[in-house]
Amino acid sequence: MNAIIVSPWVEAPRSYAEPLYAVSRALAHRHPETQVHGLLGGEYGYGQHFENAVFEMHPYYWGDCTCGFDDREHAHYLTINQSPDYDTERAAFLASDRHAKECPVGWPNFRHKPSGFELRWYKYIGRGMEMNREVSAAELAEICAECIASLAVVDAVVEAPALPAGGAPALPAGGAPALPAGGAPA
Ligand SMILES: [Zn+2]
Repeated sequence: MNAIIVSPWVEAPRSYAEPLYAVSRALAHRHPETQVHGLLGGEYGYGQHFENAVFEMHPYYWGDCTCGFDDREHAHYLTINQSPDYDTERAAFLASDRHAKECPVGWPNFRHKPSGFELRWYKYIGRGMEMNREVSAAELAEICAECIASLAVVDAVVEAPALPAGGAPALPAGGAPALPAGGAPA
């Protein structure tokens, strides 16, 4: 896609990778089988598909739009790219159309549900990060701490009752029932 994106997103400082990396590491320890691995991103740099009541995380998506939005966006761009009202028309289009919920292109790499804070990275945590609004380092640290704490709640409330009596020898250590590889959130 070559169109210029009108975006309110702001660049995130490189140091903001650290608390996000901690969330990814905490997820990796709980769900080692769904962690996405690679060389350049480091052991936890890619994150994994995960969602609970507090936050969601999705690795960088390498594929194409699956919902048709990119085609509609491109077609619309061609109709307005010489227009003196480009910015207005572009904003109106983006306000009226977007990627479908099922389309991975539209997923943020990280979203904190209570605050609506979203962050995206390019390929791996720390690279080309943008966020949907400014947050202070202290606020981000608080958000990420809440995400990590929420993992313990999920263990206790949701997953523990589902374990078969007498333990769950088939599960990996510290593991949870596997999500489908590369799977989407419900
Ligand atoms: Zn799409």
